[in-house]
Amino acid sequence: MSTTLPVFNLAHQHRPDEVLEPRTSAEVVRAVRAAAAAGRRLHPVGTGHGWTHAIEGGTALLTCGLDTVTIDGERSSARIGAGCRFQEVIVAVAPHGLTPLAGSAPAVGVIGFLLGGGLSPLGRSYGWATDYVRSAEVVTGTGEIVTASEAEHPELFRALLGGKHVPGVVTAVEIDLLPLSTFYGGGLFFDAGDAETVLTTWATWSAQVPEHVNTSAALVRMPDLDSVPVPLRGRFVVHLRIAVPLDLVGADEAATLVAPLRSLASPLLDTLGVLPASGIGAVHADPVRPMPVLEAGALLRDFDPTAARKMLAVAGPQTAAPLAMIEVRRLGGRLAEPPKRPDAVVGRDAAYGLFVVSAPVPELFADAVPAAVGGLAKAMAPWASGGFQPNFVGALNQPSAFATAWPEETAGLLRSVRETYDPADVIGH
Ligand SMILES: Cc1cc2nc3c(=O)[nH]c(=O)nc-3n(C[C@H](O)[C@H](O)[C@H](O)COP(=O)(O)OP(=O)(O)OC[C@H]3O[C@@H](n4cnc5c(N)ncnc54)[C@H](O)[C@@H]3O)c2cc1C
Repeated sequence: MSTTLPVFNLAHQHRPDEVLEPRTSAEVVRAVRAAAAAGRRLHPVGTGHGWTHAIEGGTALLTCGLDTVTIDGERSSARIGAGCRFQEVIVAVAPHGLTPLAGSAPAVGVIGFLLGGGLSPLGRSYGWATDYVRSAEVVTGTGEIVTASEAEHPELFRALLGGKHVPGVVTAVEIDLLPLSTFYGGGLFFDAGDAETVLTTWATWSAQVPEHVNTSAALVRMPDLDSVPVPLRGRFVVHLRIAVPLDLVGADEAATLVAPLRSLASPLLDTLGVLPASGIGAVHADPVRPMPVLEAGALLRDFDPTAARKMLAVAGPQTAAPLAMIEVRRLGGRLAEPPKRPDAVVGRDAAYGLFVVSAPVPELFADAVPAAVGGLAKAMAPWASGGFQPNFVGALNQPSAFATAWPEETAGLLRSVRETYDPADVIGH
């Protein structure tokens, strides 16, 4: 059956044989065992931000019913059900003066994000979000409920910390929270006419900033919608994003650090200021409305002014590239530190991450979008590390991107964990 699952990315027409929405871990166990007995695959589905293909047949297991957040204020931790989005967690823990290390879009599911490593707009200051996972409850492909942690099922636990496609359904995670109440940040939006000055200067500036400065730059074709602020509506803009946690520096110092960007040109919109930690979604201001998009990502070893000019030449305001957004995130800082325990995170050795989102126009998906993304990939090739961050692999990446994302030692661990916990290959992704 072709069915419209309640997911963010509408580009993929999922056709599962059945859709289940369990409300307890025991119901997940029953679903996995029934799928295994029937020789069906079972696909865990979160908020559907990260699917790179359509589900064909089998069982789609929606996790949205597993939506409980339990806070332990004394331990500064939270147990989060698999169906939770970051927004629910952020709101639940904020009264305790705590915040999770969330991604750019609070509407994204916590589990899918964590399974890929979890790159936060505060990552340079605090590391990968998986660094904060204490344990996870998993229903394995054999239908057993296990708790994975450093002490229990350590290899499965390691696979969960960045291995992305895991041999089970994660039903809940326990994570450490940050005692962060405010940060300095937001966005600077510049006109297309200033694109070269802004992007080349940001490239130089971002390479030198200290680790408490988190930043990214995006070329965005803003839709002409009422939900878009009037000065940006229907325009091509360069969006510089900033987040400086104020437990590390004062607001005045943070403002001084970003002053060179503010004086580059006259911004169309400047939203920089002191924000509550719960306002992290305002930094990227990612779309929340479901839409059909194709995506691709790559890791970069560098992004210098020459790379910025090349990018503008193939996808800048003078071109007709059907791309809604091209984003370059500065990595490094604590994201580059060696892990304190074994994990499967990818991206520590890259200086920047590149992510491309197509225009939400399915008629362009067959030819125009792949051609534009291919042209961009070719232009960026001299700066590409050759690696891929699993959370930013999309339908427009080569099929080999997932296969080659992990170094051989980690890939071997992921294979062996799959053979142990899902020998019949029941869990599909
Ligand atoms: C607008 C936008 C902004 C984003 N920003 C960031 C960001 O800042 N940082 C970052 O790291 N990533 C980011 N991402 C990527 C995002 O983290 C991934 O797409 C992630 O997979 C989304 O999780 P989800 O809940 O939507 O999972 P889904 O898209 O539903 O699933 C993705 C994969 O995870 C598996 N999965 C989901 N839930 C479970 C479960 N409970 N047990 C086992 N497997 C499961 C699915 O089977 C599937 O293979 C962003 C994506 C979008 C669209």
